[in-house]
Amino acid sequence: MARVAFVTGGTRGIGRAICERLVADGLKVAAGYSGNEAAAEACAKELGVTVVKGNVGSFDDCQAAVAKVTAELGPIDVLVNNAGITRDGFLHKMTYDQWSEVIRVNMDSAFNMTRPVIEGMRERGWGRIINISSINGQKGQVGQTNYSAAKAGLIGFTKALALENAKKGVTVNVICPGYIDTEMVAAVPETVLAGIIGGIPVGRLGKGEEIADMVSFLAGERAGFVTGATLSLNGGQYLA
Ligand code: NDP
Repeated sequence: MARVAFVTGGTRGIGRAICERLVADGLKVAAGYSGNEAAAEACAKELGVTVVKGNVGSFDDCQAAVAKVTAELGPIDVLVNNAGITRDGFLHKMTYDQWSEVIRVNMDSAFNMTRPVIEGMRERGWGRIINISSINGQKGQVGQTNYSAAKAGLIGFTKALALENAKKGVTVNVICPGYIDTEMVAAVPETVLAGIIGGIPVGRLGKGEEIADMVSFLAGERAGFVTGATLSLNGGQYLA
C-alpha cells in the first residue's frame, strides 16, 4: 500500500519540489500552507496532492492538519518539516515579534507537527521524519540570529529524536540546504546574491529538485540505516 507523506510548506519552493518528487515515487502526499491560496490551488491541481491550510507555529493547527490528512489519506508515514520564514535584522535592531515568529514557525513547528504523528509511527514500527534546516543554522549568518538559532535548533532536535526512535523503525534526519533558487532567495538584493553565488564552489544556486532527491531517498525503504544525520546540500559552500 502507498505510504502517506505530509510536507509542511509544500505548496511553494523547495516544499513543492519535494511534493512533486514524492508523488512521482508513488506516495500519497499532503502539502501544508499558511495563506497563499493561489499557490495551494495550483499545487493541488497540477500535482494532485491534498492541500491543508494552517499555521505550523500553532500546535492546535498542526493537530487539526494531521487529523484531516489521516482521515483523508491514512496515517502519516513520512513527515517533512519544511515550512520556514525569515524576518531578518541585526539583533540590536530586532523586535521581539521578529525573533519569536521565526522561532515559532521554523522550530516550534517541528514539535507541533512531530508530536501528533510520532506515536503512530512508533506503534506501526515504521516512519521517516525529515527536517529542513539551513546552511545558516550550521555556520550562522549576519542579520539572522533568529533564523540561525531556529535552524540550529532543528539539528539538535533531529539528533535527540533519532536516538529516541532508532529501535522503532523511525528514522529522523536533517537536511541543510545552501542557497536554493526559490522566492525566499529571489528576495535577496541582486548585488548581495551575486556575492553569494561567487562564494559557492559549484558556481550556481541549488535547485529545489536537488533537495527533493535527497528527501526521496531518506523517505524510502532503503534509507533505514540513515538516522540522526545532518546532510549538507550546499554546492560546497560550507563543509560540515
Ligand atoms: P518559500 O518561501 O518558497 O515557501 C515557504 C512555504 O512554507 C510556503 O508553502 C508557505 O505557505 C509555507 N509557510 C510559510 N509560513 C508558514 C506557516 N507559518 N505555517 C505553515 N506554512 C507556512 O520557502 P523555500 O522553499 O525557500 O524554503 C523552504 C524551507 O527551506 C524553509 O524552511 C527554509 O528556511 C529552508 N531553506 C531555504 C533555502 C533557500 O535558499 N530557499 C536555503 C536553506 C534553507 P504560503 O505559500 O501559504 O505562504
